[in-house]
Amino acid sequence: MRTAVGGYADDAVRDLAAQWVQAWDRIAPTWREAVDVLVAWAVERGRWPNPVEIARVEQVQQALDTADTELDGLAAATTAAVIAAAGLAIAATVSAEPDVIASQMPAQYRQAMRDRVTARILPSALDVIRTRVTQQITAQTRPLSADASAAMRRELVRGVRLGANPRDTARRMVASVNGAFSGGANRAVTIARTETLDAYRVAARYAHEANADVLDGWVWLATVTGKGAARTCPSCWALHGTVHPLDSAGPLDHQQGRCARAPKAKPWRALGIDLNEPADSIPDRQTAFDALTDDQQRQVMGPARLALLRAGRIDWAALAVRRDNPAWRPSYTPRPLTDLNRIADQRR
Ligand SMILES: [Zn+2]
Repeated sequence: MRTAVGGYADDAVRDLAAQWVQAWDRIAPTWREAVDVLVAWAVERGRWPNPVEIARVEQVQQALDTADTELDGLAAATTAAVIAAAGLAIAATVSAEPDVIASQMPAQYRQAMRDRVTARILPSALDVIRTRVTQQITAQTRPLSADASAAMRRELVRGVRLGANPRDTARRMVASVNGAFSGGANRAVTIARTETLDAYRVAARYAHEANADVLDGWVWLATVTGKGAARTCPSCWALHGTVHPLDSAGPLDHQQGRCARAPKAKPWRALGIDLNEPADSIPDRQTAFDALTDDQQRQVMGPARLALLRAGRIDWAALAVRRDNPAWRPSYTPRPLTDLNRIADQRR
């Protein structure tokens, strides 16, 4: 399920990145023309034009208008691509959650559990989730076009230092405008990664809450084994394996985070299954971290953080800090090293 959901996010990211590049290729000629006029103006007078003077240049107005049209199209394409990816993520979650929960049962009880969990996931509730996710994505993508347009205008007004060679000056100016335009692409990609994963988390939370009679909570699952383990941040390492109430949102991962929410079945005997249970197969955080090489551990933590952790001067829980974000949602991110040093000093 994690691979499928991550794949939908990756597909949307690839698609959007390509669309933004193609759009810039379409508008680049108008910008080169506009910038050539501005640079010629500046060279003649020995200074960069002010906003009023810039606005009088017809080619600049044309370039801005063309860019705004492209940006509106890109914002709409971003909204559509992310909503589609989120829809696929929700569908993948709904079809996999019954298997994930049933997998925690003895073999002969799995089919019954799968059927029971599936029956509790109501299509009408999923419709409500899809509507809410769509609203959330639309709210995130709405400012994309205007913000990128404003950033391009700011670059124009800021100007560039006039060099000896007008062609170099023009090239630097076009690069600045391109950078502002691409800032929109970076945001679109972040939205695609973040919102696709959040759609999965919302759907999983619903599936878990609807099956509260067989679950004890959910487990924060980070990538702590395999190829990706060294790329998992200290905050996600710290939260891996922690158990949370079913009715709590999450995992409240940072932007672009890929942590998952694993349902935790009640003990077999509490479910009326009179058998001895095998050990939990979710990788233990400390064991997984110890299995990394020194280089990988340093890659995750950085040398100073790693030294504090190894010396027992901070514990795992100190590594993650919750931050509130009025424009988005609360999220856990790595606690800065200066704060960790203070915590370690206070413990001494
Ligand atoms: Zn992380």
